[in-house]
This record gives sequence, structure tokens and C-alpha cells, in this order.
Amino acid sequence: MPHIPTSDGRPAWRAQVLTLFPEMFPGPLGISLAGQAQAAGIWSLDTIQIRDFGLGKHRQVDDTPAGGGAGMVLRADVLGPALDHAQTHSPDAPLIYLSPRGTPLTQSLARDLSAGPGVTLLAGRFEGIDDRVIGARGLKEISIGDYVLAGGEVAAMVLIEACVRLLPGVIGAAESLTSESFETGLLEYPQYTKPRIWEGRSIPDVLLSGDHKKIAEWRDREAERLTRDRRPDLLHRNDQKGS
Ligand code: SAH
Repeated sequence: MPHIPTSDGRPAWRAQVLTLFPEMFPGPLGISLAGQAQAAGIWSLDTIQIRDFGLGKHRQVDDTPAGGGAGMVLRADVLGPALDHAQTHSPDAPLIYLSPRGTPLTQSLARDLSAGPGVTLLAGRFEGIDDRVIGARGLKEISIGDYVLAGGEVAAMVLIEACVRLLPGVIGAAESLTSESFETGLLEYPQYTKPRIWEGRSIPDVLLSGDHKKIAEWRDREAERLTRDRRPDLLHRNDQKGS
């Protein structure tokens, strides 16, 4: 499928997902911001059914683990051709296997991926995939957290959603992105809106003062306090970056 250029002539950011369950897509990616951006041609989504590359009459995709043990493993001789097919559509997109063993997905990784042409994502199932595929096709492994999902589809959606909202034109005010959690290396300060008093709780006075310098200082302080209390590891990460 050709790239549909956006109104400013940029080719659409292209996500491809190899999965045994294409019916799970677009799912949450079809609504709200991501859905509207897709309709506007800012990004595109294609699924590739791994079973189309399955073997024999039953289109077998998996087999028992070498060395024994529970579960099934997706076969290299099925995934290889499926990935090659995906690459003919999106030759420049990085090939990514969603995997609990992968590099943790962070905001800066999402930013890097959103700056490229798109992503080709392999969603595993069962016990995972034959390890030889990872080396043979140069798959980058990415994890969405230290827990085990039943399949890579939801992880693929998480990665795509994190990237899509960073694409130019998806979120109106660029500023609403730069002050967010992780973008500054800190968690975001608390937000409030009307009414001024709710169930006896009022909005911090400084936010209603109209003094923009004081407001900015308060937000910086709160962001630092929250980060120190909840995620001191982020502060250490920033120290390392600076040195
Ligand atoms: N046996 C594997 C887990 C397989 S879970 C192991 O212990 O490492 C089945 C599939 O779900 C995986 O192939 C992967 O694609 C996906 N998956 C599970 N947890 C994930 C996570 N934290 N991040 C990204 N993908 C995950």
C-alpha cells in the first residue's frame, strides 16, 4: 500500500503488526486522538496475519519447545517469511519484537521511534518465538514492563499509542507535550480545573494568583517533590545523563 502523504507532504508514519489476532486492531487505536490522526493520514496501521505464512493444510505456526517443557513456540520458518513480507512494505522501519526480555519502553525511546518512518512489530503468543529469528532478522526486543502478558498485541498497541501522540499534528499545543511526565525527566506537577472549591478542597492559591513566574516555580517544585517521593530512580537517571 502506498504512503498517503499528509497535508504538509510528509509520508504517513506507518505501523505494521504481525499477529495471530488481527481482529484485535485497531481497537483503542481507532478512537479519539489516534483514530482521528489515522483518519487524517498522519499515520497508518496494517496488520499481517502470521497464520497466512503457516505450514501445511492446517497452516501450523507453532510447535513444542526443543528440550521439552510446557507450551508452544512460534516457528522460525513461519516468522521468517512473515517478517520478510512485512519488510517489502516498510523496508526502512525497525523490526521490533515485543518481549518481556526487551529494552524497557520509555518516553525517549517512543520519541526516537516516532521520528522515524514507522515500526514493524511482531506480537508473540504462547511461550514466545524461536530465538533464531531474533538474530537472523535483527529484531530489536522491547518490553512494556516487568510483567508477562498473554500476547504481544496489547504491548504493540501501547508502543504505537505512545509514538502516535508524538507525531506532528496529533496533539494541538506542542507545549502540552513538553511539560509532561518523563519529557522533563520528572513526573508532571498536579493539575486542577474548575470548580475552585470541591467537597471542601480548594485549588492551591498560587495557581489562581495570575503570577506566571510563581506558578512556574510552584510547578517545578511539585514535579521535583513528586518525583523524589515516587520515582527517585528517575532523578538518578537524569544525573547520569548530565554527567
Ligand atoms: N515465555 C516468555 C513469555 C511469553 S508471553 C517469557 O517468559 O519471556 C507471550 C508473548 O507476549 C510474548 O511472545 C511477547 O510478545 C508478549 N509479551 C508478554 N509480556 C510482555 C511484555 N512485558 N512486554 C512486551 N511483550 C510482552
